[in-house]
Amino acid sequence: MKVSHFVIEVKLRWLLPLDKRRDNFDYPFNGPQSVKHLIESVGIPHTEIGEIKANGGSIGFDYLVQDGDKVEVKAVLPVGEGIVEPRFVLDGHLGRLASRLRMLGLDSLYRNDYDDKELVRVSVDEVRILLTRDRRLLMHKNITSGQLIWSLEPEEQFREVIVRYGLKKWVKPFQRCIRCNNPLETVRKEAVLEHLQPLTKLYFDEFHICPACKQIYWKGSHFNRMQKIIEEI
Ligand SMILES: [Zn+2]
Repeated sequence: MKVSHFVIEVKLRWLLPLDKRRDNFDYPFNGPQSVKHLIESVGIPHTEIGEIKANGGSIGFDYLVQDGDKVEVKAVLPVGEGIVEPRFVLDGHLGRLASRLRMLGLDSLYRNDYDDKELVRVSVDEVRILLTRDRRLLMHKNITSGQLIWSLEPEEQFREVIVRYGLKKWVKPFQRCIRCNNPLETVRKEAVLEHLQPLTKLYFDEFHICPACKQIYWKGSHFNRMQKIIEEI
């Protein structure tokens, strides 16, 4: 039996079992074990891990932990504004988060009947960030980009994702259908007039339509609320 000495950053400690939620703990293990495997075995998915150090020096996921190693684990840092627009796939519990991301124009696949296998396949094949509340799913060996969503509250979830992926840069409201993720098309007011409520007819002139489900969009109160959230961030 070997023993490693773990120091987990405070931000990640909520993922640990209760008996390990402290400044540091000793972790016994057998045989050759990669640091990635050991950290996941205490409950932290690799997608949430930032820098790892062994005895003060930076190491990668493949590092084989030695008897007596002091392993320090930091939380992943926000990736910030990348050069490629992030795309997402969300698990069946995150429908309201998916709506918000689509409202910003972000490509966000969501179906409430995706099973785990399908979620992993879509994330890997289509290079989509997997957003999920299921940490076991993020521990799948094929998953390279994902985020564990800790909050149960959709607006807080939305903030978590915006901060981690620097989404402010990619905001393009009214470009994607909130119901089905399809890109929207602009439509002349006259063409949709018969479907509009009297006040909408009166106050709005710009309209978009989803070519798939025919939902009509305009810059109503929903949009203002969303703008406010973005400005706060
Ligand atoms: Zn649609």
